[in-house]
Amino acid sequence: KAVALSPEDVVKKYVQELKPPPADEDCIICMEKLSAPSGYSDSCESQCLQPESVGRLDRCGHTFHLLCVLAMYTSGNKDGSLQCPSCKTIYGEKTGTQPSGKMAVSILPESLPGHEDCGSLEIMYLIHKGIQGPEHPNPGLPFTARGFPRYCYLPDNEKGRKVLALLKLAWRRRLIFTVGTSSTTGESNTVVWNEIHHKTEMNSNLSGHGYPDPNYLDNVLAELAAQGVTEDGLRP
Ligand code: NAD
Ligand code: ZN
Ligand code: ZN
Repeated sequence: KAVALSPEDVVKKYVQELKPPPADEDCIICMEKLSAPSGYSDSCESQCLQPESVGRLDRCGHTFHLLCVLAMYTSGNKDGSLQCPSCKTIYGEKTGTQPSGKMAVSILPESLPGHEDCGSLEIMYLIHKGIQGPEHPNPGLPFTARGFPRYCYLPDNEKGRKVLALLKLAWRRRLIFTVGTSSTTGESNTVVWNEIHHKTEMNSNLSGHGYPDPNYLDNVLAELAAQGVTEDGLRP
């Protein structure tokens, strides 16, 4: 999706300038006093944002130097969204850096341990190895993709189907996987899960990522919400 806004426009869209700046508070991005210039004054150039300018994020109310918010935004994937570094509130629609691939769903008659009253949903994710883009840790270098296709399971009940709809939205927003270092294998420059837990075992629980787990659906809904993926995004 094309983002027409410049980085400065994105900052101005979500951060309201405060005049004068709060006297005794620090900016948690650069750790300087808000009454002093931004610590990013030398490294982050802007035509329209001054090093002394301070602003407040409009929903959560946290305050930063405008230039610090600009530096944070331009060091990310510049998707038109901002995330408050204090409280993680998301402004706009957060997207990730998941490489291209395929997500497919099958309906299975077998039930999952702990969900004996319904069948199950099997999600298949397929991502191939490739070359890292500008949004990845080492642009131009290859990345590997281990253990694909990966299969994941949900109960085929109302809550499981809601989680599935949100996982599809998270997939479109490139939030399910990222390129980084696997905490399991230590391999770097590889495709890894990205903070949204999946159940990769159907009838066993050898990895700890299986059933039964009575809290799983609520936990994954909270993890999706932390990435800005909620039912609001499902409305037409
Ligand atoms: P990682 O080890 O960096 O961990 C990222 C997150 O994924 C963590 O939250 C972790 O708890 C979770 N996680 C770790 N192992 C998981 C598993 N088996 N199922 C579901 N979630 C898991 O992430 P990663 O490197 O992407 O995956 C971990 C390991 O699982 C890798 O070694 C991967 O190859 C392997 N894996 C293999 C297959 C397969 O079919 N062979 C399928 C899925 C995962
Ligand atoms: Zn600052
Ligand atoms: Zn905040």
